[in-house]
Amino acid sequence: MTQSDARARIVLALRQAGVTDSRVLEAIETIPREVFMSAGFENRAWEDAALPIECGQTISQPYVVGVMTAALSLSGREKVLEIGTGSGYQTAILAKLSRRVFTLERYRTLLRLAQSRHEALKLTNIVSKCADGGQGWPDQGPFDRIIFTCATPFRPDALLAQLAPGGILVAPVGAGAVQELLRYRLRDDGVFEEEALMDVRFVPLLPGVARDA
Ligand code: SAH
Repeated sequence: MTQSDARARIVLALRQAGVTDSRVLEAIETIPREVFMSAGFENRAWEDAALPIECGQTISQPYVVGVMTAALSLSGREKVLEIGTGSGYQTAILAKLSRRVFTLERYRTLLRLAQSRHEALKLTNIVSKCADGGQGWPDQGPFDRIIFTCATPFRPDALLAQLAPGGILVAPVGAGAVQELLRYRLRDDGVFEEEALMDVRFVPLLPGVARDA
């Protein structure tokens, strides 16, 4: 199977699994996932699976990236904050579909790798920093959209406070191996609507910046 067949197959599988937003599917088909894989895993880039990356972390599964990105309802005008840059793959998808993406990662090694990939792909609307994403990015807020790509044990109040009116935050919430993917929407009257989307398995949000890498 050629790589373009593999890309088309994954997009078809995502559509059949309920990801129907055509802009999201197009972004998944366009962004070369192989660029974001760690050495030795490039040939598995178009499997619908989460796979290991550097620093003991994982690149998210395309289906889950599809569901989470669709849940953000991006029109192309939004300012987005991502917690957990990891490989930079989800960041690249968001960059295709929004005005600007701010992304935070606690491992400097991962951040540097992601930055060089974004540069090579000429994605110029990404701003990234090595910092504890649990604090958000107060200087740059408020954000129209916020996405956690690591699991937060509790309701992410510090980040909900950085959401603009009408804004949406999507996060895996839970302290166990399986978490609930939640979507919060800040109504104009200041009330948060909360909706559970599905069960997911993410690496945990860890406190502080990593010292070792
Ligand atoms: N979106 C990524 C998924 C990476 S896994 C991708 O597509 O590849 C989640 C990432 O969250 C890991 O890289 C982990 O280091 C990071 N992370 C965990 N706790 C964090 C924190 N407090 N601040 C910033 N990043 C964090």
